[in-house]
Amino acid sequence: MRCGYGSLAVIKGVSLHVEQGEIVSLIGANGAGKTSLLKAIAGLLPLWAGSIHLDGSDITGTPAWRGVSRGLVLVPEGRGIFADMSVLDNLIVGGYRNRDRQLAIDRVLERFPRLHERQRQIAGTLSGGEQQMLAIARALVGRPRILLLDEPSMGLAPLIVKDVFDIVRGLRSQGVTVFIVEQNAVAALGIADRGYVLETGEVILEGTGEALRENPEVKRAYLGKGYREVWE
Ligand code: ATP
Repeated sequence: MRCGYGSLAVIKGVSLHVEQGEIVSLIGANGAGKTSLLKAIAGLLPLWAGSIHLDGSDITGTPAWRGVSRGLVLVPEGRGIFADMSVLDNLIVGGYRNRDRQLAIDRVLERFPRLHERQRQIAGTLSGGEQQMLAIARALVGRPRILLLDEPSMGLAPLIVKDVFDIVRGLRSQGVTVFIVEQNAVAALGIADRGYVLETGEVILEGTGEALRENPEVKRAYLGKGYREVWE
């Protein structure tokens, strides 16, 4: 696919795929085009060329709200929670199209005990990590087939990043497919079945999470010292 803003091409010919039940991470530096790519997949940024398929159907040009009802749910950069509403009300909004909303909310609260304890709390008063968990939990209430996560580690302390990524890892065992874009290559490749490296709008490397973690170029450019201690 190709897309951009005005005459500025930001995604310059990216081709990628995510299989059901996989966690696929796309890493890239600041400004590589990660958020733009996710917006394009979610139907928030029109394509200039190329196409997007979900379960064999061409969904190119499908508006984001319709994508949601097909199970394509974006957790945006900066979380996008409703800060003035309670945790529970955020979850209710997340499930507005789901007929079994109450059941979905009960399941999500079971999965996120921290949110269960804080369900009456105003969302804007949660810690950063809890807000990220709420953003993911709200998306899950919509029963996604594929969850698109935009930089969930942003602004979080390393230990909290680990909590959030443990949750993402756990989603795979519940059959949720995850596509995650991250600057934090350590965290994102630590949980990935497969990964891609995006540089200035182009995929320059792809492989299994493990192969990318061992790739010298990736190590030099994206993986700082000490990641083994944290992730292996
Ligand atoms: P970061 O990790 O810093 O969030 P990113 O990889 O997600 O970066 P994008 O946010 O997709 O990168 O931005 C890619 C390029 O597109 C940047 O040069 C940015 O300035 C530009 N860009 C993003 N949004 C817009 C917009 N609404 N209008 C014009 N240019 C934009």
